[in-house]
Amino acid sequence: MKCAILSIGTELLMGQILNTNSKYLSEELNNLGIGVYYHHTVGDNPKRLEALIRETFKNVDMIITTGGLGPTQDDLTKEIISKVFDREMMKDEYSYGKIRDYFNNRKKIMSKNNIRQAYMPKNSIILENNYGTAPGFIIDDKEKIIICLPGPPKEMKNMFNDQVMKYLMKKAKNYIYSKTIRLFGIGESLLEEKIMDLIENQENPTIATYAKEGEVSIRITSSSKDEDEAKYLVNNMIKNIYEKVGQYIYSTDNEELIDVVVKKLKEKSLTISLAESCTGGMIGSKFTDIPGISSSFDRSLVTYSNMAKEEELGVKKHILEEFGAVSRQTAESMAMGLKRKTKSNICLSVTGIAGPDGGTEEKPVGLVYICLLYGKTMVTRRFHFSGDRNKIRTYTLLSSLNMIKEVLERG
Ligand code: ATP
Ligand code: MG
Repeated sequence: MKCAILSIGTELLMGQILNTNSKYLSEELNNLGIGVYYHHTVGDNPKRLEALIRETFKNVDMIITTGGLGPTQDDLTKEIISKVFDREMMKDEYSYGKIRDYFNNRKKIMSKNNIRQAYMPKNSIILENNYGTAPGFIIDDKEKIIICLPGPPKEMKNMFNDQVMKYLMKKAKNYIYSKTIRLFGIGESLLEEKIMDLIENQENPTIATYAKEGEVSIRITSSSKDEDEAKYLVNNMIKNIYEKVGQYIYSTDNEELIDVVVKKLKEKSLTISLAESCTGGMIGSKFTDIPGISSSFDRSLVTYSNMAKEEELGVKKHILEEFGAVSRQTAESMAMGLKRKTKSNICLSVTGIAGPDGGTEEKPVGLVYICLLYGKTMVTRRFHFSGDRNKIRTYTLLSSLNMIKEVLERG
């Protein structure tokens, strides 16, 4: 199948935004074994958009568009496409209900333009938008396929991953099987170095590595006429990757670190409490993002000042004075105070210097201590993270979760 990606938006032509959507889609489509032959970009102009779609279809079987699905007057993608495919626009009741609820929940008035968003070309496959209001759609008229996704990257990616991927897999003649491994504690470049021979010799399955702050993932995708063979190829590659970097892998099912931790806490019926200084509640917030966490998660105390550490956790003044708030002794004393107070099975404390100010030569910005108490086990680790305040706090969060995961795996 030959495919083109068509990015719609005057902002792209003006250089106001970078076209990250086409990069993302190209990568994903290549992983699925679908050839991307063209990238086109056009402004929010009906005539030029129509001409470009017609022209592009002379060379490809499928076009994926992003942008121009929103409620404003310059969002014209749907109307033009319904014209090209000669399909009238019909109100989609389900989309209408969702858009109406979106506005009701926010106590906002729904405008005519918002109602327009629920009108879709007749007989199209509707793609739900779980992160915004504009639904996407697919028109599949056997000869030509067009898949229309919203412009905002988050909405586009989620729609693609949750819905379009399934559609494309069904469409592909071969069975495509894909799994994503997640790793923590190894950077993307070291990872690539360690699995270089696998990357260099990849053919089927293909291997792609991705990095985001503090975490890396590897997606393995195989293609075969036979479902069992496709699965075997992927699972066998996972085995090979395990041999090289197994100690860093925390999920072979694309789960977040927090999900793995919560699963283990629940399996073992354990409770957890936190005492957070430099993360200011970020770790607690990560736990409370998970529905049904109340049976495992007790509390997170944000003890930022010395006074808070003394009052809430009983950290002794002389410890703070002698060793400082960012020290092994303070971290341990925070965790022990938390244990006395909460009796939770796992008590974790963090204290660090997130910057940009406050660092010294002896205690630089990025210095973080994390202490974990679990039964008779006490683990205290010293980290020196680099980056800005946000990055340091994110790394602290992830390292905390990783320490909890490790201790739960052991005991
Ligand atoms: P909305 O409902 O937000 O109007 P839309 O589908 O109409 O969505 P656009 O109006 O074309 O999308 O773009 C909305 C925003 O999405 C842009 O301002 C930009 O931030 C982002 N965006 C659009 N296209 C791209 C792209 N190709 N790459 C990266 N970001 C994009
Ligand atoms: Mg728009």
